Amino acid sequence: MLQFQTRNAEETIAVGQLFGQQVTAGDVLLLNGDLGAGKTTFTKGLAAALGITRPVKSPTFTIIREYRTGRLPLFHMDLYRLENSSPAELGLEEYFAGQGVCVVEWPQFGGDELPLDHLAVAIQRVADTDDQRKFTLTATGPQSQVLLQRLQAGLPHD
Ligand code: ADP
Ligand code: MG
Repeated sequence: MLQFQTRNAEETIAVGQLFGQQVTAGDVLLLNGDLGAGKTTFTKGLAAALGITRPVKSPTFTIIREYRTGRLPLFHMDLYRLENSSPAELGLEEYFAGQGVCVVEWPQFGGDELPLDHLAVAIQRVADTDDQRKFTLTATGPQSQVLLQRLQAGLPHD
């Protein structure tokens, strides 16, 4: 587990950019955090560092957006509106099993379709501040452990 803080949105974008430099094919990031925590802001930085120029928007209504013009394909998912439809119907496993990078907002709605080996990225507001965010990274298997190690040197320190 690894923790650090960002002081503003720009620093969260920079953290996302570091991820964009270090991710490899098949990496899965599950972004946990309330509305407005910074999940999409983080993903914008990640996409930019992959070389994706199309603007990244929250895929709330589409569930998934695919970006295929960067160093690796980016599959950006927002599972908030899955509601009654089952994650299985969407064929999410194909994305997870593919050679892209999957970034998932609201993974708690993904049920058991989500890969066991993922890097969990929790983003929390810091009490009494508008712009500070606490990040907690947790690797849950061999591939995410490798990613966490690759990231470690470049991340902010408390
Ligand atoms: P989410 O996708 O988690 O709902 P967004 O990334 O869409 O959140 O929105 C985060 C909002 O919070 C943006 O308006 C952003 O400018 C603002 N913000 C302020 N401080 C930070 C920070 N440290 N990291 C990320 N976003 C921040
Ligand atoms: Mg969002």
